[in-house]
Parts: sequence; C-alpha cells; structure tokens
Amino acid sequence: MSNKNAVDKLISHQTMAREDFIELFGYYQNQEVRKLLTGEALRLRKQYYGNKVFTRGLIEFTNYCKNNCYYCGIRGANSHIIRYRLSQEEILTCCQEGYRLGFRTFVLQGGEDPFYTDERMAAIIREIKQCYPDCALTLSIGEKSRESYRLFRKAGADRYLLRHETADEVHYRLLHPDNMRLENRKRCLWDLKALGYQVGAGMMVGSPGQSIRTLAEDLLFLQELKPQMVGLGPFIPHHDTCFAGEPAGSVELTLFLLTLVRILLPTVLLPATTALGTLDPGGREKGLMAGANVVMPNLSPLKNRKQYELYDHKICTGEEAAECLGCLDQRVNAAGFTLVSERGDASHTQTSRCIVSE
Ligand code: SAH
Repeated sequence: MSNKNAVDKLISHQTMAREDFIELFGYYQNQEVRKLLTGEALRLRKQYYGNKVFTRGLIEFTNYCKNNCYYCGIRGANSHIIRYRLSQEEILTCCQEGYRLGFRTFVLQGGEDPFYTDERMAAIIREIKQCYPDCALTLSIGEKSRESYRLFRKAGADRYLLRHETADEVHYRLLHPDNMRLENRKRCLWDLKALGYQVGAGMMVGSPGQSIRTLAEDLLFLQELKPQMVGLGPFIPHHDTCFAGEPAGSVELTLFLLTLVRILLPTVLLPATTALGTLDPGGREKGLMAGANVVMPNLSPLKNRKQYELYDHKICTGEEAAECLGCLDQRVNAAGFTLVSERGDASHTQTSRCIVSE
C-alpha cells in the first residue's frame, strides 16, 4: 500500500491531487499495476453498463471553420481542402438512414461555421427532435455564448461534446492561436453543464508539447468538471498543419488513460475513438477492453467523408454507414461486448464518483 498510494487512492475513489496523478503515470510500465487498474476499470464498466456498447451516429455536417487550431486538418487557414456543408435536408437524410440502422443518438459535429447561425442550428435541432423524439441529439460545434447554448438546449439538444484539448495554459498556447483562450473553453463547459446538457470534455493523447504534468492537469480538470462523457483519442498529424512532422500519439498511453478515466468517473460514457482505430487496426477493440463503452460510426454522406479530414489516414471514409456498423458489430462482439440500439444516456445511479462498498 505504502508504495502504491496513488493507485489505492484512485481505486478507493478518494479525491486525487496533482501529485497523485503524476505518481500514477509512474506505473505506466508496471504490468502488475496495469493489470490491477484494467481489471478495476472493466469491473466498473460492467457494473454500470453490463456488456453494452452504445453507438452514436456521427454526422460531420460542415468542414468550414473560422478557427485555426494548429493540429486540426480543417482549420480555417488550410487552403488545400475542399470545403462542404450539408443542408438541413441532407442532415435529415443522414438521420433517417441512421434511424433505420438502429442509431438512437445523433451527433452533429462540425467546424465553427458562421453559416449555421443560432437560428439555423435551432431549426435543425427542432426538426431532428420532432422527427425522432426517441433519439438523443448531441452537438459538437465548438465555443458559443451561454445564450446560444441555452437556445440550442431549448430547441431540444441533449448533449454537447467539447474537448477541452488540454487543461494546461502553456500547452494550450502551443496548440492554439492567440485569439483562442483556455479560459473560454472551460467557461463553455461549465455553462453547458449548468444548462443541463450531458457534457463531454477530453483531450488528444500525445499532442505536441504534452507531458505527464499536462496530462495530470487534464485529469485534475476532469475530476473537477465531472463530465458525463470524455473523448480521448491519440493525436495524429495532418499533412497541411503546423504539426505535419510531429509523431502521432501512443495507442498504449491512450489505453492507459481510458482505464484511468473509467476509474476516476465510473459512469462515464467513453468512446473507443476512430483515431484509435486509425493508428491501430484493433485499436477500438483494445479501447473497449481498457474501459471504453461507446463507438461512433460515421453517418456522413459518403461523398463528404474524406473531406472531413481532421488528421491523415482516417479510417471508415470509404464505406456506407451500414457497412461500417456491420463491421463494428463484429468487432465489438469479438471483443466480448454487445452493440445495442438505445439512447445510451449516462447511468443515473451516480454521476459523480461514488464509493462502491464491500
Ligand atoms: N469544432 C468542434 C469539433 C472539433 S473536431 C470543436 O471545437 O469542438 C473534434 C475533435 O477532433 C477535436 O476536439 C480534437 O480533439 C480532435 N482532433 C482534431 N485534430 C486532430 C488530430 N490531428 N488528431 C487527432 N484528433 C484531432
């Protein structure tokens, strides 16, 4: 016990300090501790979600973006990509196909595209919720004012994904231009929570400048925010960005973080990301076996798939949604889990960390 203090603290759900998280990374190579942690993560996952894996139909509806995040392939300053945006009708067609395939959550994700004014977004949200009242609608459209978030919520949006990217100021500055502020991103997340959204934060693993210290900061922030969802995927360089020559993040470290986050926030909805599957053909299965319980197949029209290129060599850009789902279904089964067709809300028995006694 005495020499594995941080592990014990995490497993017994005590509040973790920055130094505790740093200590945890010291066990990264320790197979015995890794086994213990993975076992605990899988136990918790099973306790709250059984063998279920939830699906989210991802609709990448615009690759226009006014921002210029240095890591992202669709950043505004990239003049080498073909830009597209989907009409309300096209978005609805994606939902129709998705619903037919069994999806009960739709995720509208895009760059920060001023074409979609608050009114346009609200109209799209209202229509989707009217056509599919039994489905959850998730937005992932970046930083907005509290008023905009309120409007979208009133229109029917249930969830919001906004990765904080890094909780460390210095690291944040390395990844983003001057006009973007970590403080504002955090403000958005707190606003979204206050407005009753199920909120998703998260970060890339292995982004340039990331260190054990910045990751510890990320985990501290997650512990404080207690989001219902956490998006964790490896950084993958995109050839038209400032970070084209940087190495990709580590699959192994991503898996370790998935495990830590599952224990830190036991009821968290944790996707095995496409980025993980891009770096390693068995990456998503490994993600599920490390504590993840969500997959997000692509529902975007085939003609636009390749254009939503956040990073190089993204998988699943050449197949119809149905094929993607079929393939994932087999993979999920092979990993010992079951893909289910339901909304898949966060388990309500507890949203914050709670002691599992005995
Ligand atoms: N505009 C929205 C959606 C961004 S894209 C927003 O600001 O939230 C969704 C996520 O993709 C980002 O939050 C980022 O973490 C991830 N991403 C972007 N570029 C990436 C890259 N090169 N490698 C891996 N993930 C990347």
